[in-house]
Amino acid sequence: MSITLPDSDHRWRCAHCGNLTRFDVVRRSRTAEFWHLDLSGEPEIEESASLVDEIESVTCRWCGKPDAIEVIARPAPGDPLPEENPGGQP
Ligand SMILES: [Zn+2]
Repeated sequence: MSITLPDSDHRWRCAHCGNLTRFDVVRRSRTAEFWHLDLSGEPEIEESASLVDEIESVTCRWCGKPDAIEVIARPAPGDPLPEENPGGQP
């Protein structure tokens, strides 16, 4: 499954139940870091770079559908916000 992170103009939506706000996301990431340890051995991460950041799956939290996520446009500024709970589910 290949799903992309929504950018600043887009958002996820569950095509099955209309959920816009709650998803279980499994992602694989690989990070390069610069660790600076003090003389007592306490590390501090001073630099961090993302090498790989892949989304493996996005599952709708409401209906549990693993393959129904679509990417849609975000509402334009001034548009009324969509209902948070259009399906009437908890
Ligand atoms: Zn759903």
